[in-house]
Amino acid sequence: MASQMSGFVPSEPGQSGTGDPGAGGEPRGVYIHFPYCLQKCPYCDFVSYATERAEVPHERYADAVIAEMEQRRNELVGKRVASVFFGGGTPSLWKAEELGRVLHHLRQMACFEANVEITAEANPSSLDEAKARSLKGVGVNRLSIGVQGLRRERLEFLGRLHDETGGLHAVKEALASGMERVSADVIYGVAGGAAQTVEDAASEVSRVVDTGITHVSAYALTIEPSTVFGELARKNALPMLAEDQLADMFLAVRDALETRGFVHYEVSNYARAGHESRHNLGYWRGLDYVGLGCAAYGTVSTGDGNARRYRNKTDPEKYIRAALTGPSTEGHAEALTAETRLRERIMLGLRLAEGLDLSAAADALGVPAWTNERRRAADKLVRKGWLSISAGRLSVPPKAWLFADGTAAELF
Ligand code: SF4
Repeated sequence: MASQMSGFVPSEPGQSGTGDPGAGGEPRGVYIHFPYCLQKCPYCDFVSYATERAEVPHERYADAVIAEMEQRRNELVGKRVASVFFGGGTPSLWKAEELGRVLHHLRQMACFEANVEITAEANPSSLDEAKARSLKGVGVNRLSIGVQGLRRERLEFLGRLHDETGGLHAVKEALASGMERVSADVIYGVAGGAAQTVEDAASEVSRVVDTGITHVSAYALTIEPSTVFGELARKNALPMLAEDQLADMFLAVRDALETRGFVHYEVSNYARAGHESRHNLGYWRGLDYVGLGCAAYGTVSTGDGNARRYRNKTDPEKYIRAALTGPSTEGHAEALTAETRLRERIMLGLRLAEGLDLSAAADALGVPAWTNERRRAADKLVRKGWLSISAGRLSVPPKAWLFADGTAAELF
């Protein structure tokens, strides 16, 4: 979820970092997970728990995340931060002052770049203009809103709490608040409720961007095994679209957005120039990120091309207790070798229109770029038209983007 920004400043003069533009190393992202939602959507495999509005532990959860920051001082103090992303779950459910308290503590510890991107995910059922203004007031400069669809039957099928007007209303409220940047998530390829046509998919995404937002994430509905939809699919009880219908929708959505001046910069992401998600670009370009909060993942370089990946406890109460009393919030951790990291760079880099400079990535990690096997696989993919190599950059041509993950796997 990174900007290649130059220069950074301590966000709280005299308090955060050193203020030395040469300090802090490579920029990194910080991801903060908020695991509560008002309802569990049947397709969702994120760590999120349906919680009554009144039951959300606003202050305790903020205390826990702040306590975890203290446990992770080595990964934060004086480090350059290019982006912060509050994801979930539904971070817009969190009291803005508590989210702001977490952000303030982070600002004091780390060196925020001058144009740091600070995103909060929001759902239409917990976002209005006043909430957006409060989030802006505590430093959030980008909202990512889960619109998902504009047809009541399909939203019901997806288990969403808002109706056909709710998504666009939330986007307009966010824009009215003066929020610097607004993005929306849209799901296409929905066969249940009222089966979606190719024209529906293109028209819905067009209506969403015609509000004036500058970024949209358009995802095909995927069926994850551990979800309610996964269970229904195993019983052949879930309406699904055929692969070729999904491919047609992908292309129709792409055409509609490109006609409106959006750049298709990642398989599922479109932006007006300069409005790409810096946080997600950081993931796709292989930057380190520190994860905070229940169930958050983090990946931090440990030298010689290696890294450490961890995941925090996935039960909110266990996470909160571990954060407040120590010694560690982690439920799992593993070492990543430079070879593994290069394979991840290939997998993620080939999802981007800009592709990946394989030699530069390999050099940075201290491993060879071109094994004989990888060279043979690349030649074959180029002959099939599934891979382009230009000036050392590997990329997947747009017509083959639907198969980008398979193409990357051939290069492992
Ligand atoms: S609102 Fe988002 S995070 Fe929460 S259950 Fe639905 S899809 Fe998952």
